[in-house]
Amino acid sequence: MNRLLQKFLAERQMEYLTVDGDFNIQETSQGVQRFADIPDEVGEGKDVRDCFPELFGLEDALESVMSGDQTSFDLKGIDRTSDPKSPLYFDIIAMKNEPDEDLSGRLIIFFEDATQQRVNQQKYVQSLNKANLFLATLEATNSYIDKIITSMADALFVTTVSGQIQKVNQAAQDLFGYSAEELITRSISTIITTEDLLRQFSLCDHTPFNHIEVSCRKKTGEKVLVSFSCAVFQTDIHELQNLIYIGRDITDRKRMEAQLKQVNEDLTLSVSKLKERNSEITLLSELSHRLQECRTLKDAYRVIAKQVKPLFPDLVGGVFTIEISQHILEAVAVWGNPLLSQNPTKLRLPPVQNGVGDNLSHTLGKFLHPDSPPAEYYWVPMMTQQETIGLFYLSSLEVGKLTERRQKLAMTVAEHIGLALANLQLRETLKNQSIQDPLTGLYNRRYMEETLEREIDRAARSHQELGIIILDIDHFKRFNDTFGHQAGDAVLQAVGRALKKNIGSGDMACRYGGEELVVMTQGTNLELTRKHAEQLRLVVRSMRVEYDSKFLGCITISLGVACFPKHGKTLQELIQAADAALYRAKASGRDRVIAAEQLSAVQAIS
Ligand code: GH3
Ligand code: MG
Ligand code: MG
Repeated sequence: MNRLLQKFLAERQMEYLTVDGDFNIQETSQGVQRFADIPDEVGEGKDVRDCFPELFGLEDALESVMSGDQTSFDLKGIDRTSDPKSPLYFDIIAMKNEPDEDLSGRLIIFFEDATQQRVNQQKYVQSLNKANLFLATLEATNSYIDKIITSMADALFVTTVSGQIQKVNQAAQDLFGYSAEELITRSISTIITTEDLLRQFSLCDHTPFNHIEVSCRKKTGEKVLVSFSCAVFQTDIHELQNLIYIGRDITDRKRMEAQLKQVNEDLTLSVSKLKERNSEITLLSELSHRLQECRTLKDAYRVIAKQVKPLFPDLVGGVFTIEISQHILEAVAVWGNPLLSQNPTKLRLPPVQNGVGDNLSHTLGKFLHPDSPPAEYYWVPMMTQQETIGLFYLSSLEVGKLTERRQKLAMTVAEHIGLALANLQLRETLKNQSIQDPLTGLYNRRYMEETLEREIDRAARSHQELGIIILDIDHFKRFNDTFGHQAGDAVLQAVGRALKKNIGSGDMACRYGGEELVVMTQGTNLELTRKHAEQLRLVVRSMRVEYDSKFLGCITISLGVACFPKHGKTLQELIQAADAALYRAKASGRDRVIAAEQLSAVQAIS
């Protein structure tokens, strides 16, 4: 073989051998044994198929090359690896040996070491497999993430840092009513109206936020409240960051919360109203109870002032009794303004014509608010079956305090008070009737005797004196006879009024019988009592009494005066002494005062 071919073969790690028509080896290159299955069998004259058993069965193909029918025959990828650490692969190429070649034999068979190529190929296949596997894994992961994103109930947006939408999920499309195509590449502000928040997040520090409530806009323009969380993440591209927004529609939740809050507030309000009602009922029943315990109107007035105030703690008010015949209003209980006097005060009842309500409110408002007029007021008349006995009045310096409910409460309170006052008035009237003389309004004899006995005891205990005046109208019968019995009554009434007016607060006047009257004076002596009697005489004398438009003439009285203990130690003795003095006054010419005579020594001792 020429040297050029040998060099070519050596560089390519190729060996060769030639065979004759019977496949016996004719020639071999030096290193051909390394490709042989049994290297020792390689040798001149040996059947090539014994050392290369893969040629068995290929005789026809090899012969057609020998005959020139086929240019060459290749057998590739023969594996002769005996130790896996040093694999050996080679290809066989059989060619016809041309007669001008300086080689013997009809066929030349080349053996080309394909180990490296095969190893590379295997490595390449392995890498390819790995790459395919990785790709498959990546695809699986992507599809998994896509599945998660798609099936997420929360809306997801991926945007650039400047807010351009890169990706949206199905939930985002469903929530906002846009398709993915409509959203992608548009700004996130397409759906989020709270731009400031986003601008701050997107363009500035990129601090993540969680569950921020953001007002958003659907494609239809409808507003929707979304709780957004936002974070920044690094993309595959170096130094490029994106933002991920995850949002949940909380419109319904918020609505529910608001409804719940409302229900809660309503409930709290109901509870507090209930408490208020409860406390009002308690106060009202206490007021009613206390009023029932009252024995006199004075007691009742004190109870009203004290017990009504807590029912209307922020209001100024009062209870006024009405004396229509005398055009008088009396403030019997007031509360809410420390400037007001707690003592009953009499006010003139304003004229009833032309807006009695306004006039009355003005009068009461002025009385209860001497400092500044009230901003609003409310009053309720207190009625008995027949008449108005008074007014229940409430006022406030602020508008809006006298609510409808409080007005109703005021009506109830007024009703309670009216009833209680009417009862007490009735009781006092009955009591007065039992102790009063109906004609003169003076105490009756029975009451006077009871009282006088008590007073005599008291004077005795405290070593004080007591004066008694008995007076009788002179020639009274003449009035009856001249002007009639009723004119006589008028004279009696006039004298009774004169006595009431002209006695001290601790003194007492009574009708002793017929036209005889008695006055008791406390803490006095004979001289003072006598002077007092003289004064009464002059008062009566100066009276001008008319009846039926007729002047009834001069009325004179005769008076007898006696003193405890000087003229008697018992009621009987005193009355007797005064009566005797009166008798003497009559006897000595009437229209005069006569004092009783001092008891004789015997009388005084007995
Ligand atoms: P004297 O100066 O002596 O007291 O003369 P007198 O007329 O006042 O005395 P007398 O005792 O004679 O008359 C009293 C009369 O008073 C008799 C009686 O009819 C009358 N009288 C008694 N009570 C009433 C009364 O309530 N109304 C009227 N109108 N008259 C009465
Ligand atoms: Mg008389
Ligand atoms: Mg008489």
